[in-house]
Amino acid sequence: MAKPTFFDYPNFRETKIPKIRLAHWKPVTTYTKYRWVVQALVVISFVLVPALRWLKLDFTNDQYWIMGREVSMMLALQAVVILWLGTYFVNFFENYFVGRLLCGWICPWGLINRLGLIINHILRRHKRRALILATANLIFAITATLVVMNWVIDLGALLNPQHAYFGLVWGAFALLVLIGFVILHKMGFKFCEGMCPFGLYLTVVTQKNSLRITFDSSRACVDCGLCTQVCPMELSPREMDFKDSMNGGFGQCILCGDCIDVCQIRMDLEGLPAPLRWNTEQEIIPLLPLENPSR
Ligand code: SF4
Ligand code: SF4
Repeated sequence: MAKPTFFDYPNFRETKIPKIRLAHWKPVTTYTKYRWVVQALVVISFVLVPALRWLKLDFTNDQYWIMGREVSMMLALQAVVILWLGTYFVNFFENYFVGRLLCGWICPWGLINRLGLIINHILRRHKRRALILATANLIFAITATLVVMNWVIDLGALLNPQHAYFGLVWGAFALLVLIGFVILHKMGFKFCEGMCPFGLYLTVVTQKNSLRITFDSSRACVDCGLCTQVCPMELSPREMDFKDSMNGGFGQCILCGDCIDVCQIRMDLEGLPAPLRWNTEQEIIPLLPLENPSR
C-alpha cells in the first residue's frame, strides 16, 4: 500500500471544504501552474530526444545518433558525458539559488509519484482502490522503463525473438519494471526523501539562502495543519526554518508549493493573508511574482 495521503487524515476529512480537496493537484498559485507545465515539457523531451534521434545510443544494433546523424559510438558517448557534466554544473549553480527545485519541478519520477497521489485521491472511496492503484503503478513502471530503455536500445528488439539481444533486453526490462514498481508502490515519495542518491546530494548541498518556504509569524495561522498533511515529503512547513536542514528542514523541501497553495486557499476563507510564503520578500531571488500585500 502506498503511504496515506493527506486525504486520509482525520483533520482533512473534517475540513469539508471542497476547494481544499483539490489543492493537492489542482494548481492555485502561478508557481504551481508553471510547475505542471515544466513537468509536462520535461516528460515530452525525455520521449522526443531519443525518438527523433537528437541523442540516441542503440547498443543492441551498434548504431548511434546525434542530432539525427549517425555517428560513432565514441562520439555518442562523448556527447553523453558532455551532456551529463553540463547538467551537473547547471544543477550545481541552480541548486545554490533554488535548492531542491529540480526534485519538485524537473524529475519525472516525482511527477509519476504525484499522479499516483491523484489517482489515490480520485478513488478514495472506491472499494478496489488498492488494486487499481497497484495496476496504475505497474503501468507507470512499464511506461517509465520503456522511455528510459529507448535511450540506449532499439525497443523493437523486445518484439523480435530472432534478435541477438532478445533475452537480455527482456531480462533488463523485467528487472527495471520490478524495481520501478516496488519503489513507486511501496515507497512513493519516501524514496525521494531518503533513498534517491541525487536527492540526498541536493539535500546536503542546499544553502539556507536559496529559495525556500518561510512561515511569517506576523500573520495569523488558524492551525489547521493542512500544510503538513499536504506535504509529499512529510515535512512540517511551519517549522522548517527551525530544524536541521537535513532533518525536517529546508534541505529536504522539494519546493513543490503544495503547502503554499493549501495555506492560501484556507486563509482566503478567513480573508487573511497566508502565513506560509516564499522567502522572496528578502529579494534573494526575483524568481516569483511579488506577493500581493493585500492578500
Ligand atoms: S514543505 Fe511545502 S514546498 Fe516543501 S515539499 Fe513540503 S509541501 Fe512541497
Ligand atoms: S500555515 Fe496555513 S495551512 Fe499551515 S496550519 Fe497555518 S493556516 Fe493552516
